[in-house]
Amino acid sequence: MRAVLMEKGKLWVENIETPQPGHGEVLVSTKACGICGSDLHAAKHTSDFVQTSIETGGAFKLTTFDPVVLGHEFCAEVVEHGPKTDKTHAVGQLVCSIPVRLQSDRNHLAVGYSTETPGGFAEHMVLSERMLLPVPTGTPATAAALTEPLAVGYHAVMKAQLQGDEAVLVLGCGPVGLAVITALKAQAMAPIVAADFSSGRRAFATAQGADWVCDPATEDPFQAPDLRNRKLVVFECVGVPGVIDDIFVKAPQDTRIVVVGVCLQTDHMRPLIAINKELSIQFVLGYTPDEFSRSLQAIADGTFDVAGLVSHEVGLDDVAATFTALADPERYAKVIVNPSL
Ligand SMILES: [Zn+2]
Repeated sequence: MRAVLMEKGKLWVENIETPQPGHGEVLVSTKACGICGSDLHAAKHTSDFVQTSIETGGAFKLTTFDPVVLGHEFCAEVVEHGPKTDKTHAVGQLVCSIPVRLQSDRNHLAVGYSTETPGGFAEHMVLSERMLLPVPTGTPATAAALTEPLAVGYHAVMKAQLQGDEAVLVLGCGPVGLAVITALKAQAMAPIVAADFSSGRRAFATAQGADWVCDPATEDPFQAPDLRNRKLVVFECVGVPGVIDDIFVKAPQDTRIVVVGVCLQTDHMRPLIAINKELSIQFVLGYTPDEFSRSLQAIADGTFDVAGLVSHEVGLDDVAATFTALADPERYAKVIVNPSL
């Protein structure tokens, strides 16, 4: 099968062996798979990524010396059932799955971050039958592939335990920020203020439902008129060093901060500022299986408005160039890889 391989930042297309489904597994053909910021991180900073993964328990079976097939935000079609499967989903059924391939020794494989199992930037994958969720009829594969990234935004909003009377500020309007805005909008939160240096990303934020957007280069988002005299919850969706300290400096008393952006480097912040203002900070990661399945449902029934989220669809041959192009965020929201293109 054709697959995009990645090793230490280099990406190329190669014909590799099609994986075989084992007990309880199915072979699927990938219909759509989103490129995630974490994929860009893994390519650009492979050593940091591997090191962090080892230090946090090593769920990602990634090395700096073996090529890996990335891609964990996918929608696929059932092609073949392996031995000892229940055949719950017929051949031809569109499915999504949390990107985890179950292993009997509980050393589960992270699909898209493991050298032992290919991710979604390939024609086929092997998935665990137990993990499959059928995509409701009428939902296209490109929309269903947004289940994973939107589940991340949904989880962050769930973790924020909003009461409904807060003002919310989303810092960073890349795919993670847009997922958070989508989930906030679905909960009818208002006002939603969003900030990003890129005018293209601000336009995407407005399209996803942000009530007020601003360019932090010229305006202080914390001074947005909509935020005055309201309890404030800030979603940090940037993930670069210095952002959290900057929030400490600018946030008003008692602000709650939810950190969704993934910063791989050592960061520096001054606790005394947060202490003085009694700020609260919550770090979040991933989603629960229930949130993942609700995310797919919300896409299918229109609760999550995904029409504007996919900005580009590319084939396997374009993945390497797209990884480079995504360094410039201006024109991109979510890019979906479709191996049949
Ligand atoms: Zn992701």
